Amino acid sequence: MEFSVLKERALTYAKYQEVNRFVAFGSVASAILTTQGNVYVGISIDTACSMGFCAEHSAIAEMLKHREVQIEKLIAVTENGEVVPPCGRCRELVTQVSPENYNTQVMVNADTVVTMKDLLPFDWKPTVDKNW
Ligand SMILES: [Zn+2]
Repeated sequence: MEFSVLKERALTYAKYQEVNRFVAFGSVASAILTTQGNVYVGISIDTACSMGFCAEHSAIAEMLKHREVQIEKLIAVTENGEVVPPCGRCRELVTQVSPENYNTQVMVNADTVVTMKDLLPFDWKPTVDKNW
């Protein structure tokens, strides 16, 4: 499945909406393609006191709900279609879920795809335990 398809799937849900003065959601949406060929989409939640989370985070929750852990491709987009790279916390979450996810292809801007390993060049986990 091409990144363009994943981008369209994510864009369907990248619709910013305010709930109230403390909570908004949907400023970013993320689509992940698993190695089993399924696509899961998540949206960001923005809150006061930093209680929200990224779109990648909720896409991973959706994947785990379906008992999958290996991500083949990942993309996140804003409402206007801008591709944004995952933050450090999401890079960490993706690789903690499965060491196979160092091979995840990540679209980081409109025309650049790198691996998660490229995004975490000096990761702490392999030095702690090679078989998590
Ligand atoms: Zn993030």
